Amino acid sequence: MDAEAKVKKLQAARQELHRRKGKLDIAVWAIENALLEVASEALGRGQDGCEGGDVWECEDEKNPIGMCVYDGYQDPCWDECLFCGEPYERK
Ligand SMILES: [Zn+2]
Repeated sequence: MDAEAKVKKLQAARQELHRRKGKLDIAVWAIENALLEVASEALGRGQDGCEGGDVWECEDEKNPIGMCVYDGYQDPCWDECLFCGEPYERK
């Protein structure tokens, strides 16, 4: 395979992987949002009452989703998990 053909093949493969990654990112986002809704309802905050990342496993057994969640409105820096009180930034 000459260099030009090789580059074309690699670029096509890269483009396809980017396309698939975009779809996977959207799917992960949708699942995380659904989990946050469960946590928010457990806290009595309606559907959009908390935010979170998938970085920290929450130790609080009352947390139904097992990941730390935050009140992004009252606590924009995510200093205190609504269940266990731990911050998002940890060393
Ligand atoms: Zn927590």
